[in-house]
Amino acid sequence: MAIHRTKMLIIGSGPAGYTAAIYGARAMLEPIMVQGLQPGGQLTITTDVENYPGFADVIQGPWLMEQMQAQAEHVGTRTIWDTIVEVDLAGGAPFRAIGDSGDEYIGDTLVIATGAQAKWLGVPGEQELSGKGVSACATCDGFFYRGKKVAVIGGGNTAVEEALYLTNHSDDVTLIHRRDELRSEKILQERLFKNPRISVLWNKAVESFEAGTDGTLGHIALKDTQTGELSTLTADGAFVAIGHAPATELFKGKLPLDDNGYMLTEPGSPKTAIPGVFAAGDVSDHTYRQAVTAAGMGCMAALDAERFIASSNYEKEPSAQAAE
Ligand code: NDP
Repeated sequence: MAIHRTKMLIIGSGPAGYTAAIYGARAMLEPIMVQGLQPGGQLTITTDVENYPGFADVIQGPWLMEQMQAQAEHVGTRTIWDTIVEVDLAGGAPFRAIGDSGDEYIGDTLVIATGAQAKWLGVPGEQELSGKGVSACATCDGFFYRGKKVAVIGGGNTAVEEALYLTNHSDDVTLIHRRDELRSEKILQERLFKNPRISVLWNKAVESFEAGTDGTLGHIALKDTQTGELSTLTADGAFVAIGHAPATELFKGKLPLDDNGYMLTEPGSPKTAIPGVFAAGDVSDHTYRQAVTAAGMGCMAALDAERFIASSNYEKEPSAQAAE
C-alpha cells in the first residue's frame, strides 16, 4: 500500500481531468491523476468526433483521449490506474482519498472530474448497435444522419432539445415517449409541437433496436404501454435521451449536490463549497456536456487550484509526488 502525495490530485480522466492535468503540470503542481473505471471517459465509447476544435479531419474519440493522456504525461502528470472508493474532505486541505488498490492519495488541492454517464434503456440491440445508429448524444452524432430518418427516446428537456437539434440535419425526426405527456419545460414542448419535421409517438416503449441488412440500425421495435400492441419504426439513427447520471456517489453528504446529483459550484467557476476542491466537466454540468466545455472547465479548475496553493490562506506543506 503506497501513499501518493501531490499538490493537485485529479479524480477522473475525461477531457476535464486531462486539461486540468496539463495546466496543473505546467504550473508545477505535479499532478497525480487517478483514472477511474473507464480511463478516457465517455469519449472512449464514441467513434467519430468532428466538433473538437483543432482537427480539420474527423478524429476518433478513443484516439483523442490517448492524445490528451500523452500530452498530460509529457508535461509531468502522473496517471495511475486506480479507482477512488473513499474521500475525506473534512477539515479542509490537504484532502485524502483511498483507492480500490488500497493506496492512499493526498492532495493539497482536489479536482473532481468524474464525469457523468448517459443512462441506457438496457434493451436488446442497444449496446451492439452503439456507434452504428444508436447514440446517446445528438449534438455529437446528429451530423452523421444528414437527410436520414432519426428517432429520439425520452420525454425530458434533453430529449426535446435533441429532437429540435436534429431537425437541423433531418426533416424526419420522431420522438418516442413512454407516456402521453412530456416532462420537459412548456416552452420546449411548444417548439417541438410547432416543428413540422418532428412527430411524436406517445405511450411507446422501446423493445429492441434491430439491425438492417448493412449491420447498422434498421428499425426500432416498440410496444404500446397502454394496449401492449407491437409496432416498428424504421430509423437510421436513434438517440437515447433518458437522462444522465453524474458520478458523484463518493461525494454525497460531503459536498453540496443538486437534486439530480450534479456537483454544485459557484456560478461560472469550478469552486465547490470547500476551498481547494474544484469540480469540472460533466460532473457539474448537465447543460452543455461537451468535451470542449469540459476541457475549458478543467483549465479553470487548474488555474484556481494554482491560485489556491499560492494564496496566503493555505499553509503549504512539502509535496513529494510519490512518497511511497
Ligand atoms: P429527465 O430525467 O428530466 O428526463 C428523462 C426522460 O426520459 C423522462 O421523460 C423519462 O420518462 C424518460 N425515461 C427515463 N427512463 C426511461 C426508460 N427506461 N424508458 C423510457 N423512457 C425513460 O432527464 P433529462 O436528461 O431530460 O434532464 C436532466 C436534467 O437536466 C433535468 O433537470 C432537466 O431539466 C435538465 N436539463 C435542462 C436543460 C435546459 O435547461 N436547457 C437541457 C437539458 C436538461 P418519464 O417522463 O415517463 O419519467
